[in-house]
Amino acid sequence: MRRVTRPVKAGNIAIGGRAPVSVQSMTKTDTRDVAATIAQIKELQSAGCEIIRCAVLDEEAARKIKLIKAGIKIPLVADIHFSSKLAILAIEAGADKIRINPGNIGSDLKVKGIISAAKSARIPIRIGVNAGSLEKYSGRQRHESAAVTAKKMVKRAVSFIRFFERNKFEDIVLSLKASDTLTTIEAYTRMAKECDYPFHVGVTEAGTVSGGTIKSAVGIGTLLHSGLGDTIRVSLAGEPLEEIRVGYGILKTLKLRDKGVDLIVCPTCGRCGVSLFPIAEEVERLVSGISRPLKVAVMGCVVNGPGEASEADFGIACGKGMGMLFKNGKVIKRVKEENLVEELMKEINKLKS
Ligand code: SF4
Repeated sequence: MRRVTRPVKAGNIAIGGRAPVSVQSMTKTDTRDVAATIAQIKELQSAGCEIIRCAVLDEEAARKIKLIKAGIKIPLVADIHFSSKLAILAIEAGADKIRINPGNIGSDLKVKGIISAAKSARIPIRIGVNAGSLEKYSGRQRHESAAVTAKKMVKRAVSFIRFFERNKFEDIVLSLKASDTLTTIEAYTRMAKECDYPFHVGVTEAGTVSGGTIKSAVGIGTLLHSGLGDTIRVSLAGEPLEEIRVGYGILKTLKLRDKGVDLIVCPTCGRCGVSLFPIAEEVERLVSGISRPLKVAVMGCVVNGPGEASEADFGIACGKGMGMLFKNGKVIKRVKEENLVEELMKEINKLKS
């Protein structure tokens, strides 16, 4: 069962409470380059990104938030390190939420300054505790267990929360990320016993698209499956669009969101009578822009193919050099291998009209 959390709002997107788990990403452009940043956010926006975070490295970047916001439709989170001044400037420039690690801002007084600016602007603050930054405070812990590091992360997060609460600020989202998946899982699981603030869940610096996808699917997926997580970010060293694709993939697998096409493809074996992988890749590419929930199956033979294809909204089950096209469980056509993708897409696209 999903953990009951108090809702927080970033712009028009609710995080926590009964809101669906939202998918976010971070721009990889220089925030000072307004045109490039807007272009990247627009691409992410059309792929389904619901919240965007931008790194704010200096005053120019903080001020540019105003211009960036004018060109996008989704809430913008300013990512701040080390400087209360930048956080306050970002808030004044219209950031919908800010992300800080209070431990690196400097002094309590400076953190109080950020709290009071966020309070006046009525925006939430994400308190981000990263295992990496923790090491600076308590010595290197490369060899300690996930449980020990997680315990320290939770202790630190609890002390930040209490400080915010003493300053009458409860518009909080929390994250406790580590690049080690087990530490991340352990930290969020322990933290859930301490508070009801919503969680931003992710495995930080997860890795390349393939390695990071595995870590994130296991880490974020495990947490979501135990009911923890209100908004997610998949961190990948790759195109930001991949983060959105993987994010929704995780949510769809757990039946937490049903946006977009659920593509089922058989792995093929000696029974496969067509060249299935190019067909599947082309279908995947062509359906990637579809946001309505659909199940599409691409199967390699007539043994298991028809069963799976007939359970999907659309499907193809191939024989030698050909395939049967299924729609809502019924065969509607026999199609030559070279025309399979085109005929399948014609049927899927009819839904749009
Ligand atoms: S659907 Fe057919 S080709 Fe694909 S893996 Fe199963 S048996 Fe093999």
